Amino acid sequence: MNVVLFGPPGAGKGTQAKELSQKYDIPHISTGDILRANVREGTELGLKAKEYMDKGELVPDQVLIGLIKDRLEEPDCANGYLLDGYPRTIPQADALDDILKEISKPLDVVVNIDVSDEELIGRLSGRRMCKCGESYHIMFNSPKEEGVCNACGGQLYQRDDDREDVIRQRLVVYSEKTKPLIDYYEEKELLVNIAGNGTVNEVFEAISEIMDRYK
Ligand code: ADP
Ligand code: AMP
Repeated sequence: MNVVLFGPPGAGKGTQAKELSQKYDIPHISTGDILRANVREGTELGLKAKEYMDKGELVPDQVLIGLIKDRLEEPDCANGYLLDGYPRTIPQADALDDILKEISKPLDVVVNIDVSDEELIGRLSGRRMCKCGESYHIMFNSPKEEGVCNACGGQLYQRDDDREDVIRQRLVVYSEKTKPLIDYYEEKELLVNIAGNGTVNEVFEAISEIMDRYK
C-alpha cells in the first residue's frame, strides 16, 4: 500500500502515521523526522537543513528529492510506504512521480487531513516531543506524567519551530508552496479529503477506512 499522508503542519500526520504504520505494517517515512535526526547528529545535511527549519522555511527541493529517493529504495519499502511531510512542493511531487515509476511503486492514494488554521496554531504551540519520536499535546494528548514520555520515560521538549512566530511562517509557506498539491493530486484522481478536526481516534478510523480499500 503506497500512501501519502498530506496536510498542513499540525494536521496530525505524524500522530496518525505512527499508528497506521503499525496497523498496516508499512514504514512511516517522515522527512521532518529524518532531517531532525540529521540535525541532532550534526551531519552535513543536518547543518544545512537547520538554517531553513529554524526559520520555518522549506529545505531546498534538490536536498529532499535525493533524500526521499534513497529512502524509498530501502528494502523495508518493498510492501509499501506511508509518506509524511513529503512532497511539499510541485517539483518534489514531480520528482516523486519519476522515482516511483522507476521503482514501480506508484501511489495508491493521497489522504488530505483537513484542519482549520486556528486549530493548527493551538495544536502546534501545545505539541511536546520525545527524542524517541513520540509526540504529545499538553491538552489534547497529554502524557500520563507531565513532561515524561509514556513510551520510553524520556523528557519531553518543545520543537524549536513550534514557537508562535515560526508556526505562522510555516503556515504561510504551506499555503504558498504546499497547498497547490491538493489540486495537483485531485487532477491525478489520487486525492481523498478527510476531516481532521475530530479526535485522534476519529481521524484514525476515517483514514483506516480509506486505506482498507488498498490492502
Ligand atoms: P503533523 O505531523 O501533521 O505536523 P502532529 O501529528 O505532530 O502533526 O500533531 C500536532 C499536534 O497536535 C501534536 O501535539 C498532537 O499530539 C496533536 N494532535 C494530533 N492529532 C490531533 C487531534 N485529532 N486532535 C487534537 N490534537 C491532535
Ligand atoms: P515537519 O516535521 O514535517 O513539520 O517538518 C519540519 C521542517 O522540516 C519543515 O518546516 C521544513 O523546514 C523541513 N522539511 C520537512 N520536510 C520537508 C520537505 N518535504 N521539503 C522541504 N522541507 C522539509
